[in-house]
Amino acid sequence: MDGVLFFIDMQTRFRYSVYLFCLLSVTLPAQEVYRTLHRDAVVVDGHSDVLGRVMSGESIESWTTSGHSDLPRFRAGGLDAQVFAVWVPSRERGERAWRFALAEIDSLHAIAERNPDRLRIVTDAQQLREAVITGRIAGIIGLEGGRCIDGRRDRILQLYQRGLRSFGLTWNYSSDWATCSKDEASGKVRGGLSAKGKQFVALLDSLGVLIDVSHLGERSFRDVLSVTRHPLIASHSACTALRKHHRNLTDAQLTALARGGGVVMINFYPGFLTGGLNTTRIAEMRRLHERHTKFKVQYPDRGPSYAAATDHLMEEARKAKLPTIHTIVDHIDHAVTVAGIDHVGLGSDFDGISLTPIGMQDVTDLPLLTRILRQRGYDDLSIRKILGNNFLRVFEKVTSHDE
Ligand SMILES: [Zn+2]
Repeated sequence: MDGVLFFIDMQTRFRYSVYLFCLLSVTLPAQEVYRTLHRDAVVVDGHSDVLGRVMSGESIESWTTSGHSDLPRFRAGGLDAQVFAVWVPSRERGERAWRFALAEIDSLHAIAERNPDRLRIVTDAQQLREAVITGRIAGIIGLEGGRCIDGRRDRILQLYQRGLRSFGLTWNYSSDWATCSKDEASGKVRGGLSAKGKQFVALLDSLGVLIDVSHLGERSFRDVLSVTRHPLIASHSACTALRKHHRNLTDAQLTALARGGGVVMINFYPGFLTGGLNTTRIAEMRRLHERHTKFKVQYPDRGPSYAAATDHLMEEARKAKLPTIHTIVDHIDHAVTVAGIDHVGLGSDFDGISLTPIGMQDVTDLPLLTRILRQRGYDDLSIRKILGNNFLRVFEKVTSHDE
């Protein structure tokens, strides 16, 4: 019964926010409309490696100056839901790898327990919406690389019981049941899922866990599609057509993903967005980022002057052929053209990457992406889909066992 009352309340809130948004749209200066749209939309990021920093002893519960995110910065960036990657360093093998993954999951639960007003770990779409409406970040636990389960079915069940709802079958190494994009591209492995891999996909389907195909080889990708009954996500990949890299998806993969109802969540890593980033160009990018840091101090309200300053910086970067937020949007545009507007989202890879495009220095700059999507002519509905609604649709379908 509470659920029904809550739903009514949610609808009222939604209607109210639409009215408010329309009102603000006609009263706000045009250059500020994007901030309202961004704040009002459900913004989801498909991949963050911030737990790696937590495992190294950092606290993400107050504003940090290292890395790309923390709880206050998620909020400042208008982020509503984050898939937290559980990633195990290659040095951890066997039982140590398994224990590391469990400790990483426990560390996220502990953060949520200490911050019940700021973060809620969610296991379905209803919980996600509740978290968003009550002003908390919805945290989804996602495994990045299945090697730590050591080929054991019972471990998938254990992870599920600890709240895991997204499963990346591989990282940059293959297991005896799934092959990664790196190994397939190098010809190191024949490629594809083993019989056990196919059983695991069926198990994840039956549990209602998202299957994440980022890092997966093309043969394994095809095998997953042949087994799964659910739409897939690629939580942090970009487009091969714009940048040939084994971590990106080909147009055929984008089309297949869309046909199954899935979502490609575009990665922000410059190395996946564009080629030719040598040390000289990376050093130039770092100099531009240093100037961007100064803008953040100079314009703490992040208003029109801040946006204009970042525009200036991005124009300099463009002339030097360096990647900017526009480059991320180029990949979004391509994915939308090939897969369709219902099949594209965002997968920053923040805190797992050493460099970001100019303009997108950290998670607090996400509203600037919304601004550029508007400049490129996307309507508000389409922007809401890209920012989070497409992911939400898939998450709802998979976790609710809606066949
Ligand atoms: Zn990754």
